[in-house]
Amino acid sequence: MKPEPLKIAQAIDTVKQQIVHAAHQFSRSPESIQLLAVSKTHPVADIMLAYQSGQRCFGENYLQEAVPKIQALRNYKLEWHFIGQLQSNKTRLVAENFDWVQSLETLNQAQRLNAQRPQQLPPLNVCIQINISQEQQKSGIELDELPTLARLVMKLPRLRLRGLMTLPAPSQDFEQQRIPFRTLCTIYQQLQAELSLELDTLSMGMSHDMVAAIAEGATLVRIGTAIFGERVKSASWQ
Ligand SMILES: *Cc1c(COP(=O)(O)O)cnc(C)c1O
Repeated sequence: MKPEPLKIAQAIDTVKQQIVHAAHQFSRSPESIQLLAVSKTHPVADIMLAYQSGQRCFGENYLQEAVPKIQALRNYKLEWHFIGQLQSNKTRLVAENFDWVQSLETLNQAQRLNAQRPQQLPPLNVCIQINISQEQQKSGIELDELPTLARLVMKLPRLRLRGLMTLPAPSQDFEQQRIPFRTLCTIYQQLQAELSLELDTLSMGMSHDMVAAIAEGATLVRIGTAIFGERVKSASWQ
C-alpha cells in the first residue's frame, strides 16, 4: 500500500484533538494522556510519516515484523512498546529491542526479560496485562494473580514496573465500554496502595473505545486504525 502522507498527519492531528476534547470533557489534563501509535502491519514509511508529525512512541505486536522495523529506524530515537502476546522463548528479542513491554503475564517471562536485558540499556519498562473481561481466549492474567506477580516484578532490577494494561471485550456502547476500564482503574489504585509503589501507566483504550478509557483514567491510549487505517494483510509491511 502506498503511504498517504497527509492522511496520516491529519489522522494524528484528529486523534490528538479527540484526546484533548475527551480530557476536558472528563476534567482531566490532556498532558496526562499519552498517545501510543500502534504500527503493526504498517510499513516503515508510514511510521516515518507519523514521526514527521511529531509522534515518537510506537506499539508493535509481532516480533518477526517488529524487530526489522525497529532496526531500520534505529537512528530516530523512537520509543518502542511491545503489546503483543509474549512467547517465553522470544523474550530475548523483546529485551534487546524494546523500551517497554505492556503484555507481561508470567513470572517466567519477567525473569527471562530481567536476565536478558542488555546492561548498557536502561531497565525495561513493564506493564502487567490484565484479562479484565475474563474471556477464555484473551491474553492477560486473572485479577487474583496480580499482587503476587507485581511484587515479584518489583524485585527484578532490570525491570521497572510502570502499571497495568488491558484489552477488554469489544463493545459499541459507550457506557458498556466504561465498565471494564473503571474496574481496571480501581485495581490500579488498589495495587499502588498495597505495594506502596508509585505507578504512572494505565494503558487502556484503542481506536473504538479511546474516549471511554480516558473517561475512566487512562494515561496511555493505544491507537492503530484511527492513525494508520485498516491493518494490511500478509507481509506487505516489508
Ligand atoms: C492492535 C492493537 C491495538 C490498536 O487497535 P486499533 O483498534 O487499531 O486502534 C491496541 N492494543 C493492542 C494490544 C493491540 O493489539
